[in-house]
Amino acid sequence: MFNFTVGPVQMSEEICKIGGEQVPYFRTSEFSELMKENEYLMRKFTGADTNARVLFITGSGTASMEAAVMNILTKDDKALVINGGSFGQRFVELCQIHKIPYTEVKLDYGQRLEEERLEKYTNERYTCLIVNAHETSTGVHYDLDMLHKFCEKNRLLFIVDAISSFLADPIDMKKQGIDVLIAGSQKALAVSPGISILVLSDKAVKRIEMNHVQSLYFDLKLALKNGERGQTPFTPAVGILRQIHQRLIMIDEKGVDNEINHVHELAIDFRNRIKDLPVQIFSEEVSNAVTALRTKNVSAKKIFDVLKDEYGIWVCPNGGELADKVFRVGHIGYLTIEDNIVLIDALKDLMKRKILV
Ligand SMILES: *Cc1c(COP(=O)(O)O)cnc(C)c1O
Repeated sequence: MFNFTVGPVQMSEEICKIGGEQVPYFRTSEFSELMKENEYLMRKFTGADTNARVLFITGSGTASMEAAVMNILTKDDKALVINGGSFGQRFVELCQIHKIPYTEVKLDYGQRLEEERLEKYTNERYTCLIVNAHETSTGVHYDLDMLHKFCEKNRLLFIVDAISSFLADPIDMKKQGIDVLIAGSQKALAVSPGISILVLSDKAVKRIEMNHVQSLYFDLKLALKNGERGQTPFTPAVGILRQIHQRLIMIDEKGVDNEINHVHELAIDFRNRIKDLPVQIFSEEVSNAVTALRTKNVSAKKIFDVLKDEYGIWVCPNGGELADKVFRVGHIGYLTIEDNIVLIDALKDLMKRKILV
């Protein structure tokens, strides 16, 4: 199987091996130490301040998105939510459910966010801006430097869902003024799904400590307290945290910039190879993580089906309105240039067979 989806993605041999091992008891100093190292490396790779805190939530990425909205925001906030696809829409729904006052900045699918679009929200008493660094559903990567400038000018708390762009696109919490960064285990971190990660600035931690949350599991005050000694309030996905530990150490050995550069090279290589194919890049501003492709005269869903059933290659289908128009090719996970060539050869074969036209 060749997995070019956007998660769960292909894992290396070392990581798969850990997945097959017994899961140890975790209220031990050994596990605390592993968690402390996980925290240290997450801070390092996100450019977080030394006093930033890192929480590992057992739950998929959405669990940390929800925990962030519940713990960091209140009814007294006024959030600006960038909504360019299904993950932006998810933050809109979370604000609705948790009764956080918000305004959405709605973009067309695939559309870039221009600075001018934000002008009318200046000096309007917003308190926070929420964005998915990479809107994975459409492949659009937003300009975080531009958003940082806007947040600074308006003194907004900056919440960034970097679930699909952490380790794929450069990010720096300190330089880009990010208060909350969310990551997930099954995207470029390339381990099993089940853990999501919150990296929290001092400001975000203070907000959590002041907030009253109507939830036991999602009250992050407990997680912060336990985290001080490298523990979690409840049984975490211990096996996945061990995989994360191995991955983070391997990334540290080669350098996080090299890791990101590898994803970048895979993406550039793929985009160069599709120039003669009857597909078009869908996004106005791209992430290294994914190339979203618009088909011309064939259903995108059909391409996904044929590649999966006849070639053993998994690309990522789109849902909703884009189901027949767009499919996505991921560049994250344990992939190589040779894998790109396998996919391109299959696409060329589909052209010969007059399926991809
Ligand atoms: C994958 C992803 C999520 C989280 O999805 P889960 O299925 O809950 O892990 C959130 N935001 C973005 C941008 C994503 O790509």
